[in-house]
Amino acid sequence: MANRMKNKRDYYEVLGVQRGATPDEVKKAFRKLAMKWHPDRNKAPEAQDKFKEINEAYMVLSDADKREKYDRFGFNGLDTNGMDFSSGFSSFSDIMDMFFGGGDIFGGRGKGRSSGRRRRRVRGEDVEITVKLTFHEMVTGVKKNLKYTRYEPCSQCEGKGGTNVQTCPQCNGSGQETRVTRSILGMMQQVVSCSKCQGEGEVVGKPCPVCKGRKAVPTKQDHSVTIPAGVEDGMHLKMQGQGHFPAVDAIPGDLYVLIRVKSDKRFVRKGNDVYSTVHCSFIQAIKGCEISVDTVSGKTKIKIASGITPGTELRLRGKGIPVLNRNPRRGDHYVRVEIAIPEYRSLTKKQKKLINDYELTIKA
Ligand SMILES: [Zn+2]
Ligand SMILES: [Zn+2]
Repeated sequence: MANRMKNKRDYYEVLGVQRGATPDEVKKAFRKLAMKWHPDRNKAPEAQDKFKEINEAYMVLSDADKREKYDRFGFNGLDTNGMDFSSGFSSFSDIMDMFFGGGDIFGGRGKGRSSGRRRRRVRGEDVEITVKLTFHEMVTGVKKNLKYTRYEPCSQCEGKGGTNVQTCPQCNGSGQETRVTRSILGMMQQVVSCSKCQGEGEVVGKPCPVCKGRKAVPTKQDHSVTIPAGVEDGMHLKMQGQGHFPAVDAIPGDLYVLIRVKSDKRFVRKGNDVYSTVHCSFIQAIKGCEISVDTVSGKTKIKIASGITPGTELRLRGKGIPVLNRNPRRGDHYVRVEIAIPEYRSLTKKQKKLINDYELTIKA
């Protein structure tokens, strides 16, 4: 196993997604590839290996903790020997269940029962919302109210979906049914979740009037959350367990908060450093002066040395952007000094004479 690691393809490459792909993008990419390569469907000799590779990549990239380890340490960050990737999904119908089983809104993995009435816990879908910050809020960190809607177990029926619960007459409680389809490869037999009970094995005799038997209802959320100083535009903050919560015994999905930061015309951010430009007159440049500059945390004065070269960058140490989660550490601020040189024709008569006199003194 260990020497196989050398030949392993990057998981993002395997799924054909960007490193910053959202969980939803990862899932979509996996679904597409799984449909194509699952050995139940694809009889090509390489399908088996191909599917294993796809499956393994998905098992890692769909798990936030494993993905983070992989991002930081590559394959070495994962205890691949101890991980049994093959146990993810076995049959094609499992995958179909995972994506299409039950209500689409819930979509969670393995809604329903596997063989032998072992009930797997449903995992709710993740929710993604966007939070807009001003440049200043990004620098200081800010408290924001996150308003969004997630599915939560219906309080009216306590998430049971109704009363008078009975064994499903269609699957006799197994939660599964066998579907036979004719294809170019011959008859294909698939075990899928029961269409009547969505794999639950039970049906509700009298559906709850509030959730109409769906067990969960859209519920408004309003959380106050502190966005830490130094976040970057395009970053996702993960809030574990704040996503859809489709059933009482379900594992709730996660909430991903996409950070968007409005730019500030005065500043350019590179990493934790900030770049800006100040202008001074050529007289100030000759004589040296003190000028006021804007920094991300307010105005400050800088000294311009006499005879400064145009384009000089002055460093204001520690006046940049806070380093995320390492506040009060901050980047630096670089001020580029531009010198305004007037056109000769814009000068007054008196100024022209002074310049000419000055010129003569240099030549002398
Ligand atoms: Zn059924
Ligand atoms: Zn209900």
